Amino acid sequence: MTLQRCTDPAQAAAWCRAREGTLGFVPTMGALHEGHLSLVRRAAAENDHVVVSIFVNPLQFGEVRDLENYPRDFEGDCDLLETAGASMAFTGTLEQFFPGELVEGDLPREQRVDPGEAALGLEGEFRPGHFEGVATIVQRLFTLVQPTRAYFGAKDYQQTLVVRTLAERMGFPEVVVCPISRETSGLARSSRNTLLTPEDREQALYLSQALFAARERWRAGIRSAAALEQHLRDALASSTLEVEYAVVRDPERWSHVPGRESLERAVALIAARAGAVRLIDNLELHGPPSDALEDLPFGAGL
Ligand code: AMP
Repeated sequence: MTLQRCTDPAQAAAWCRAREGTLGFVPTMGALHEGHLSLVRRAAAENDHVVVSIFVNPLQFGEVRDLENYPRDFEGDCDLLETAGASMAFTGTLEQFFPGELVEGDLPREQRVDPGEAALGLEGEFRPGHFEGVATIVQRLFTLVQPTRAYFGAKDYQQTLVVRTLAERMGFPEVVVCPISRETSGLARSSRNTLLTPEDREQALYLSQALFAARERWRAGIRSAAALEQHLRDALASSTLEVEYAVVRDPERWSHVPGRESLERAVALIAARAGAVRLIDNLELHGPPSDALEDLPFGAGL
């Protein structure tokens, strides 16, 4: 299928309105990799049309350097999307997404969308304003595209909670959360991985190794967040990573910080800097594995 390429969000919205049938939507910031493409393929399997947005949203970046360094390649991304079964890809400028709403090139605070309680703590704490920026652009994208279903990766775990809240508030779309795509080393795929030096990349492996080690502890019967978090810290201790958080949460009680009580469900989450690159990763410790890492060499031994 030939991919429709669009550099004007208003035109993209008109294209979407002219479609009949179900529309799957995958919002991205581009520099696409296999993780993004797994979302696109899933959307293509479940919908008549698949729309992908590619926009490095300045509203969700705290650090100017991070925004400037973020990799960008619209044409290369479109070539990949064509092979993955997308129907249309669009991009635009901040001004085009918020026409007539910017003041001195920025969207005033009072016009930004409240991301709700799920935004409190963790990413919300270490990246102030980040989820406000995410909720604001995602609400605008949903309004433009009017998707039947929207696809998000579990890689950005807290973001999926924020987006679910937003979709509930808007009354659409159905939010589909897809498993984390990993390299065979265990490293979660990320656009930022291209910025890692070989040494950073080696250090980055500690994130997934610590998470899978915690899941082994869970499988061995350990149910207290405090004990599991200690295992995370131990597994990260010999790295040179600058750890921002390494925590265990009950996904059903996100705003509660668990201690020694026995958990029925748990997700372990880590954010850390490898050199100049900030990385996040997470793993559900309970239930069936949420990603296909069972065959990797590490896990039980860590
Ligand atoms: P981004 O371009 O980083 O904003 O990501 C766009 C979407 O792709 C988000 O829903 C991410 O959670 C998802 N995504 C990014 N990396 C991965 C991955 N390794 N596995 C699955 N989904 C991912």
